[in-house]
Amino acid sequence: MNIVTTETQSASGNCIARDVPSPSEGWRASMRAAFRRLDELCRFLQLPADLATSGLTAADSFPLFVPREFAAKMQPGDPHDPLLRQVLPVKQETFPAEGFTANPVGDHEATLTPGLLQKYHGRALMITTGACAVHCRYCFRRHFPYGESPKGIDAWETALKAIGEDKSLHEILLSGGDPLTLTDPILEQLVEKIAQVSHIRRLRIHTRLPVMIPSRVNDRLVSWLTRTRLKPIVVIHVNHPQELGNDVIAALGRLNEAGVPLLNQSVLLRHVNDNVETLTELSERLFDSHVMPYYLHQLDHVQGAAHFLVPREAGIAIVESMRKRLPGYLVPRYVEEIAGDANKRVIA
Ligand SMILES: *Cc1c(COP(=O)(O)O)cnc(C)c1O
Ligand code: SF4
Repeated sequence: MNIVTTETQSASGNCIARDVPSPSEGWRASMRAAFRRLDELCRFLQLPADLATSGLTAADSFPLFVPREFAAKMQPGDPHDPLLRQVLPVKQETFPAEGFTANPVGDHEATLTPGLLQKYHGRALMITTGACAVHCRYCFRRHFPYGESPKGIDAWETALKAIGEDKSLHEILLSGGDPLTLTDPILEQLVEKIAQVSHIRRLRIHTRLPVMIPSRVNDRLVSWLTRTRLKPIVVIHVNHPQELGNDVIAALGRLNEAGVPLLNQSVLLRHVNDNVETLTELSERLFDSHVMPYYLHQLDHVQGAAHFLVPREAGIAIVESMRKRLPGYLVPRYVEEIAGDANKRVIA
């Protein structure tokens, strides 16, 4: 489904370049080149401009942000494309929905020090940055007060001190936002500091960047990830098989060749992946790309995301059908997060 860079005819007959920055320009150029304006994204996808005016505008507190590499995997002319739906601001976001709140998973309560969350035994999560390589409309962190989180190495000292003092911790998760939006020199320093804490054994990176901007998986990243004493593990986030283009598969292949275990988490999303065919194909393609399916998350009840909700009964039926079609190891655990629980709760 990977749409290559070509000249295509727009609806009005003018030639427009569906240009994607080349990997040699670097991932930061891709971040800068990402779509931030709905009308530009619509033009790129050859969608009518009134789609832009019928959606929300960028004045929303969670503005549009879509890398060109991801947009290039969307089907031109299809307003219902499953990748587009994940990032398209729509009017339903403003409709009130009962039980959908700004802090659905208890992140504020789980904060140990600014930028450090602990909900589960043995592992703590560092919020390294509020920045992401894409803005997913269903994101449970869309209302998180990132401004209060540390901004640089010095600001992480408090979090590192807390990690050093708690000998029950064995794993540090770098999350955010997306930790891989930070530069490699910063990440190298941070990982070095974590590795100095002798009771930490594993370093887990939660990131959507290998999927959004595959050129992010560069030599320097592979180097710090594999040179550390800590056992690395990378958890990516793919919701639909169409996201796994050849560029993404190559980036994942690189991590795999470097010996980094790869897991995937998805969110069950209405009109994106809420059927057995899509999720079965996703598991198959993930495995082809050296990635093991890990979690399928029930949607967090975050304000503005109610239109993505798939009822639990429907979700259970989908996962049970997957279990009849796939080897056990390709069926993700269907889970939900209940604020205050000691682990993610397995639904099916
Ligand atoms: C989901 C999550 C984890 C990881 O849970 P696992 O079941 O180990 O994947 C850790 N910390 C926080 C705060 C989380 O939300
Ligand atoms: S990449 Fe992850 S943290 Fe960032 S907006 Fe998407 S779901 Fe949220």
